[in-house]
Amino acid sequence: MKKLSIICLSLALIISAAAMTVQAKERKGNDMKQIEVFKNGSIPSAKGPEAWFTGPVRVDSVMPNGHESNISLGLVTFEPGSRTAWHTHSKGQLVLITSGIGLVQQEGGEIIEVHPGDAVWFPANVKHWHGASKDVGMTHYSIINLNDNNSVEWLEHVTDKEYNNK
Ligand code: MN
Repeated sequence: MKKLSIICLSLALIISAAAMTVQAKERKGNDMKQIEVFKNGSIPSAKGPEAWFTGPVRVDSVMPNGHESNISLGLVTFEPGSRTAWHTHSKGQLVLITSGIGLVQQEGGEIIEVHPGDAVWFPANVKHWHGASKDVGMTHYSIINLNDNNSVEWLEHVTDKEYNNK
């Protein structure tokens, strides 16, 4: 009886091993997609256009445009006092503060100070701006889902009066 159990167990192991081999072969097939590593520094830094920003702003894209994820992921660095113009995102935007001291504001709302580790969701079509504090720069990741033609509508610059209303 014991011998029969061992034979059955051995047989089961052989069958499952064979099944795993088939699965492994299927996984290695040419159709299998590969993980992608976006190497830091592989995309040149870009200057934030003056039409869209006040003050020096650097944009470092993390992923190439047109990636299948349909996510735009960029690291945006604002020098002290630098900020975006007022704008809206048709499908919203998530930003994650990674360094410095930042400011965010939606139209009609208070200026809110944000710090590293804070994340901010700007809902679709809510007019807003984001930028650095007056004396300390700020860097944030910008995460935008590009599905359904997510677009940015750039509006007027944030005046010094608006910026200093804190
Ligand atoms: Mn925005």
